[in-house]
Amino acid sequence: MKIGLVGGDKRSISLGKLLLEDNHNLKLFGFNEQVVSPLKVSKSLISMIKGSDIVIAPLPCSNDDILLNTPFYTGEIRMEEIFENMKKDQIFIGGKISKRMKEMANHYGITTFDLLDREELAILNAIPTVEGGIQIAMEEMDTTIHNSNIMILGFGRIGKLLAKSLQGLGGNVFVEARKHEDLAWIKSYGYGPLHLKEIKNYLPNMDLVFNTIPSMILGEENLIELKKGSIIIDLASKPGGVDFDMAKKMGINVIWALGLPGKVAPVTAGEILKESIYNIVAELEG
Ligand code: NAP
Repeated sequence: MKIGLVGGDKRSISLGKLLLEDNHNLKLFGFNEQVVSPLKVSKSLISMIKGSDIVIAPLPCSNDDILLNTPFYTGEIRMEEIFENMKKDQIFIGGKISKRMKEMANHYGITTFDLLDREELAILNAIPTVEGGIQIAMEEMDTTIHNSNIMILGFGRIGKLLAKSLQGLGGNVFVEARKHEDLAWIKSYGYGPLHLKEIKNYLPNMDLVFNTIPSMILGEENLIELKKGSIIIDLASKPGGVDFDMAKKMGINVIWALGLPGKVAPVTAGEILKESIYNIVAELEG
């Protein structure tokens, strides 16, 4: 395939190396040359786009719907610049394509595919997220995970894997859910099931709390119950699940750990991106 890779973090660079290993015709733009060496950067955005069937943007594509997310590039690339230079038979794959960006792409007749719509990517990304979360917990705690009381808020992709890993390390794992079906699974796996309404009663006994719910769960009324010296690690995307200002005022150690796959395992994260991109292309080919 002729692929143009435009912008992104360490994951995108790993992705570029993996695509080259698979013998694709790869062009790069939106990176400073020394960061991607020995890969070569195209002379211009336009030449990169012209030489590609697929344009791959990062995850997330943009933090403000205007500029492409390019942490390793000193210049700026406007999202619109990409779409206006693409042809209708080229496809755009990127992460977290907002409504506004989608409208922009539609205006130029460009078909977009959002990596965040890929369930396989979300599931596999939970693996480095969980490993990164546990790494932070181990660095922050002065006791072992083994024999610690740990609460996990949310029993989705990350919550499920986190519970399994922490139980494997010998932690006393309690998992919150709001659905009775989830609570039954939590019980059947041998974790302590907690309904959302009852977390308050358990917080005074927790050494560590992981949040995976992207909605305010740990407000003042819950934070006040937390055992002194315990740690909160919030893994949820914006807005997160903790009243960070209040926690700070109360002197609670809260770590909001975002973007862990790209930070702790960029090569694995690049492989996960590659798999999803191949799946999108295979589905298009039918
Ligand atoms: P998920 O599978 O959708 O799970 C989310 C969990 O939160 C579910 O148990 C869901 O319960 C619960 N939940 C959602 N809204 C709630 C509310 N208002 N009240 C109570 N519970 C609520 O998501 P995931 O894949 O595990 O990801 C969790 C979060 O981590 C997301 O924000 C995701 O973007 C983020 N993330 C972070 C990183 C990182 O590096 N830190 C990496 C990947 C993803 P129900 O099933 O009952 O709705």
